[in-house]
Amino acid sequence: MKLQRPRGTEDIYYENAKELTALELILRNIASQYNFHEIRTPIFEGKDLFVRSIGTETDIVSKEMFELLDKKEREFVLRPEGTVPTVRSIIENKLYGKYELPLKLFYIGSMFRYERPQHGRLRQFNQFGTEVVGVKSYLLDVEVILLGYNLLKLIGLEQVTLKLNCLTDSDSRPKYIAALKEFLSNEKLCDDCLTRIVNNPLRVLDCKIDHDKFILAPKIHEYLSPEEATYFNNIQNVLNKLAIPFELDHKLVRGLDYYTSLVFEMTTLDEEGKELTLLGGGRYDHLINEFDQQLNYPAVGFAMGLERILLTLAKNGIKLATEDELDVYVIVLSEHARYFASSLLLLLRSNGLCADTDYLNRGVKAQFKSSERLKAKNVIIIGDEELKKNVVKIKNQATGKEHEVKFEKIINVLMKGKA
Ligand code: ATP
Ligand code: MG
Repeated sequence: MKLQRPRGTEDIYYENAKELTALELILRNIASQYNFHEIRTPIFEGKDLFVRSIGTETDIVSKEMFELLDKKEREFVLRPEGTVPTVRSIIENKLYGKYELPLKLFYIGSMFRYERPQHGRLRQFNQFGTEVVGVKSYLLDVEVILLGYNLLKLIGLEQVTLKLNCLTDSDSRPKYIAALKEFLSNEKLCDDCLTRIVNNPLRVLDCKIDHDKFILAPKIHEYLSPEEATYFNNIQNVLNKLAIPFELDHKLVRGLDYYTSLVFEMTTLDEEGKELTLLGGGRYDHLINEFDQQLNYPAVGFAMGLERILLTLAKNGIKLATEDELDVYVIVLSEHARYFASSLLLLLRSNGLCADTDYLNRGVKAQFKSSERLKAKNVIIIGDEELKKNVVKIKNQATGKEHEVKFEKIINVLMKGKA
């Protein structure tokens, strides 16, 4: 039997796992600076939840969901995104009645989409996402953008482009759709778009194949109502004031149906100079109301792909994690010493030191080699001679200096070196 992980998935270990964990730690820290609180929802949900909210003509629902049947033939899916489960949880647990409004939530976790695996595109991937729920203010849109923008800066990504667009939710939406349909009627469209143009014409702009063809399409932000236009202008004015550069992109509609107003993306260039979207989001003011007509909670948020961030960091030669190193490697010269090493290791570790030893019964030379490979700052050498005298030898690897140290002084000496 050939052992092989499923297509489009990754095994993450050692350096890569450390890098992912370091990234997650930074995300948690910045989220808490902005006063966001974590939410963890199940990895699978009822299928209907996503079909109803993301939209049947979206790529996610029409072809990317991992579907499951339980023993009673009920339909579930592995979650393809994090906003809808978060909204489900807010409503189910009445979070709006329990915590300060706006709810400021973030999540980190695996999402699943049945896509053709390629550079920066997996079937299981990790997202960090934020959702601000319960209050409509352009300052919250800005806050969410700032969180995303600043965290990319914080991890060292300088070449990031922020793109904005604003969808209209007003009476002029049908007018815009009519103008768009008119424009598209003169274009040769892919098979998917021939369906989209009937069921959900806006989705055509999100086409992966023909996206660049639509540069001359009618611009939705020219169809905004006066209030919507003011709202969008306010966002741009604050961003200008804060010296956050952005571009307007009228083709940006995002791959989900629930956005109603601002939509935005942050992109960078990959190795081949192709655009890579790191995060995307927007305002979705009706989603909660569509699930529960009693509730009127506007919302804004974004989701960011962690694998794409890691790829971009690697491309730029940026490492977030510190290198693995040991405080102490214990070298043992006899069976007795090996026995003693167990309690010494316990002592070292219970004092917060990272410590390890040899378990392969190897000679001194090989043990020294190991200590170098493991980047031990200190080596402790124990042989029968030392045991008789109740001492160990401690060698500082940086200075090369070696001392005999009494058992009871070991921790003192090592801690001094650490300080
Ligand atoms: P794309 O246009 O690249 O398919 P999307 O519109 O489907 O992106 P969203 O649903 O908004 O993306 O997800 C937000 C972010 O999650 C993306 O910007 C990307 O960084 C990441 N992402 C989405 N799908 C994948 C995937 N299959 N593999 C890895 N990362 C992904
Ligand atoms: Mg997609």
